[in-house]
Amino acid sequence: MKIGFIGLGNMGGPMAANLAKAGHQVTGFDMADVTIEGVAMAASGAEAAKGADVVITMLPNGQILRAVANEVLPAMTAGAALVDCSTVDVDSARAVAEQAATADLLFVDAPVSGGVGGASGGTLTFMAGGSADAFAKAEPLFAIMGQKAVHCGDAGAGQAAKICNNMILGVTMVATCEAFALADKLGLDRQKMFDVVSTSSGYSWTMNAYCPAPGVGPQSPADNDYKPGFAAELMLKDLRLSQQAAQSADADTPMGELAQALYTQFVENEGGTGMDFSAMLPRFEKRSRS
Ligand code: NAD
Repeated sequence: MKIGFIGLGNMGGPMAANLAKAGHQVTGFDMADVTIEGVAMAASGAEAAKGADVVITMLPNGQILRAVANEVLPAMTAGAALVDCSTVDVDSARAVAEQAATADLLFVDAPVSGGVGGASGGTLTFMAGGSADAFAKAEPLFAIMGQKAVHCGDAGAGQAAKICNNMILGVTMVATCEAFALADKLGLDRQKMFDVVSTSSGYSWTMNAYCPAPGVGPQSPADNDYKPGFAAELMLKDLRLSQQAAQSADADTPMGELAQALYTQFVENEGGTGMDFSAMLPRFEKRSRS
């Protein structure tokens, strides 16, 4: 396939490289001066999109996605697909989907989970929203860049799935960390705490697979001085998106709101920037009740 790839950062760069490695003809564009193995660079987004069967975007936020879509959609050939893999607000995903439909183009919102390691290794999970035709067009590319793609529903459903998942992740990480901090103060050994909770009803991905306590459970960023991994500021971005969506859909999400407040405090005032999101544990450790 002829593929345009816009946004070649930490995630987009290795994803584009994997598509090129698999034999696709990839033309890329990024505002920054980057080179990616196997990818020809264009002078603009529109140039990268011209004549492409599929244009993939991997951008920082919904505002930038809307601006790039304004430039790129008019350059695309009728019947081609725009596949946005960025994490953006549901409203932006739906707005771009409508704009694409008006121009006779297909659109899929397909945010990912799996981080930079998943992007390099081609093991991402895609959660996709859009028509069956649009999903079918993107699916062979998801198979190269990832190991799993779930068609979640119409446009916006991929972003909805992503932020709901990450709201659960943020809330459970906070709960796991505060429980460890309480266990410490009660004199409970961390390994014993892990042994019990990881096999009891308090188990979760944050406890069992990504334990925030150093030296306990499988290898995780806690064992590497809390270097990310999944950075606290990216968790905060996703929690903010979840609360924006909750506001727009009039959903009551008090735990998500509290997790957002805690990560805001952590990132903005407590040195959490550049730390893994599991570094909530040393944060709780240092605090007392008041
Ligand atoms: P990044 O900042 O490394 O990459 C974004 C790239 O977009 C940059 O290279 C930037 O120069 C480029 N860009 C910005 N505006 C542009 C424009 N108008 N035209 C062309 N290029 C432009 O970010 P990233 O870590 O690659 O994340 C990309 C997206 O993936 C985000 O939405 C993020 O939330 C999501 N995501 C990231 C991770 C992760 O672990 N990094 C995991 C899952 C999802």
